Amino acid sequence: MAARPRSKAKKSGARKRAAVRAPARAGSARAAAKGRGLLERLTDGAVICAEGYVFELERRGYLQAGAFVPEVLFDHPEVVEQLHLDFVHAGSDVTQALTYYVHREKLRVIGREQDLVPMNRRALEIARGVARRTGTLLAGDLCNTNIYDPADKSSLREVERIFAEQVGWAVEAGVDYFVAETIAWVGEALMALAAIRRYSKVPAVITLAIHREALTRDGLSAAEACRRLEAAGADAVGLNCHRGPATMLPLLKEIRAAVKCHVAALPVPYRTTAAQPSFMSLTDPCCGDQRAFPVGLDPFVCTRQEIFDFGREASAHDIRYLGVCCGAGPHHIRALAESLGRHPPASRFSADMSRHAFFGTDRKIRKIQTDYRAKL
Ligand SMILES: [Zn+2]
Repeated sequence: MAARPRSKAKKSGARKRAAVRAPARAGSARAAAKGRGLLERLTDGAVICAEGYVFELERRGYLQAGAFVPEVLFDHPEVVEQLHLDFVHAGSDVTQALTYYVHREKLRVIGREQDLVPMNRRALEIARGVARRTGTLLAGDLCNTNIYDPADKSSLREVERIFAEQVGWAVEAGVDYFVAETIAWVGEALMALAAIRRYSKVPAVITLAIHREALTRDGLSAAEACRRLEAAGADAVGLNCHRGPATMLPLLKEIRAAVKCHVAALPVPYRTTAAQPSFMSLTDPCCGDQRAFPVGLDPFVCTRQEIFDFGREASAHDIRYLGVCCGAGPHHIRALAESLGRHPPASRFSADMSRHAFFGTDRKIRKIQTDYRAKL
């Protein structure tokens, strides 16, 4: 694909939408990190990448569950910008462009193919603005195409086209690296990696999505699939989405043992189990054992402590590219950051029960309140 010239019309500083305030920078750590690329940061330690944009925007009432296409990019760009800022405030080192499900196949499904180019450019522009203002890395994003079929050559040509054009737009926006994510076929993931390698010069983080069966859809173990991705030139490999910490960690440990490159781990913040290892397989006993995905998952949400514990355990296994996928809120990202010993701006408001009206230990709390604790 020929590189297209960058648009001259836009000067990010002149944008009216920049009225949303950037979070305070997280002191010297972030200042020191500024200007360094993904690989340098990973060599030194962990990198946190907040994800889960479409789920969070759905919860906020700006995106429809089902197709999960972020039409909010046109309808309310300020909401997308604020969510990026919220995640940075909570500790994300990365601003990932919301091009997830903004590829031609998803737009075909919702009848908005004509918006393909402007929607991708809008997502990249918003994310770039936040990344540059906050000193975070700007990540381009490729994802599952939902049409990959290894037996159908015409589908493979279309997949190739989807990846090539999305890489091209992201390169024009100046992304610092690429994420290719939520891909259940290693064959499709290899195609995404090939497009990143062919049309860009930046690092590639490739994360697979493992459904209920602990295999890729081409029948490989996650470890073997990641080994093949590393051999094909991925800079970091691992898993994102679908599985919660409890059912993703065992696979991550196998991946860690199988590859030499960096390992990425971005579970969904849901309490998946051995019997129901993916969030799409969870059923809710309170509601006639109905499938909880996607809008009945609330009873299964991980606590902040569970995400903290996930961060600790992943770090202990030298898994350095960390995040939380669909279902994540800023409070999860803060818990993840704190599990690494960090103190992002949002940590100023991390819980302090010493001044609680009943449970507080502070002298200013009246005895008439603390004496009543047992009756609460
Ligand atoms: Zn996800």
